[in-house]
Amino acid sequence: MQEGKIIKALSGFYYVLSAETITQCRGRGNFRKNKITPLVGDHVEFQADNTQEGYILKVLDRKNELIRPPIANVDQAILVFSAVEPDFSTALLDRFLVLVESKEIMPIICITKKDLISDTNLESIHAYLEEYRSLGYEVLMTSSKTEEGLKDLLPYLNGKISVFAGQSGVGKSSLLNAIRPELDLKTDDISTHLGRGKHTTRHVELIEVEEGLVADTPGFSSLEFNDLELSELPFCFPEMVKIGQDCKFRGCLHINEPKCAVKNAVDEGVIPSYRYNHYQTFYEEIKDRKPRY
Ligand code: GDP
Ligand code: ZN
Repeated sequence: MQEGKIIKALSGFYYVLSAETITQCRGRGNFRKNKITPLVGDHVEFQADNTQEGYILKVLDRKNELIRPPIANVDQAILVFSAVEPDFSTALLDRFLVLVESKEIMPIICITKKDLISDTNLESIHAYLEEYRSLGYEVLMTSSKTEEGLKDLLPYLNGKISVFAGQSGVGKSSLLNAIRPELDLKTDDISTHLGRGKHTTRHVELIEVEEGLVADTPGFSSLEFNDLELSELPFCFPEMVKIGQDCKFRGCLHINEPKCAVKNAVDEGVIPSYRYNHYQTFYEEIKDRKPRY
């Protein structure tokens, strides 16, 4: 019996990476009874005499599971935002951060298209990024065109399963190509992207980059909070976790409760008002379970 990770699923076969070899496996009959469909990213026990004829015996417990693309045990999400074209948006970043935090995935904020930033823009983007750093988030700036900053990204991938996520046109494919040039993913001109779902029909595959595994298909195509409970929302805002310990009521949701330390911190400018406004928007959205944008 051996252990490995499924890095690709295609036509009933699972490709399992263990040490330096990839074994083509099928799911064994008795294993199917459990009604678990193995996913890319699954940690499995398998049996094989050679690399062509293996059998998956058991799927080990999953830490988490994404639906689009279907992938299990994601450790980390590289949240890709372009500085310009499209412009950087804290509303969208906060939405991604909440989605990722709620699945216990570690976020890395990566601002792309650094080469296109003008001096005036640079200052305001830097100010925002410093605020996110002070919340404890890792923040990087890259350019796939000049290759600036790419080396800073690589060490984060080691030993992890990572997924790139972000709006269409921010430069996810360009970034993946830049860190793994032989992959040659299709990148499009921005005008052809708008309003379209790309990558919807492709199979996901984990590719080896440095010492890590990276999904070749971007994740989080749905930005709705379908699985998130209201009581979990404050825990997706690191500054509220800390300051919220001083709220008068246990389980304070920082909306209308009296003597709320979080609302005080917003009034005093300790928590930026845009962060709190996004919190309120997400709160209402989860309450109504209807996406606002
Ligand atoms: P995706 O939809 O997120 O995968 O975005 P793409 O990688 O397809 O990039 C969208 C557009 O932005 C393409 O025209 C790219 O050439 C361009 N682009 C991506 N990264 C950069 C960058 O770092 N600098 C510049 N100047 N353009 C970039
Ligand atoms: Zn409170």
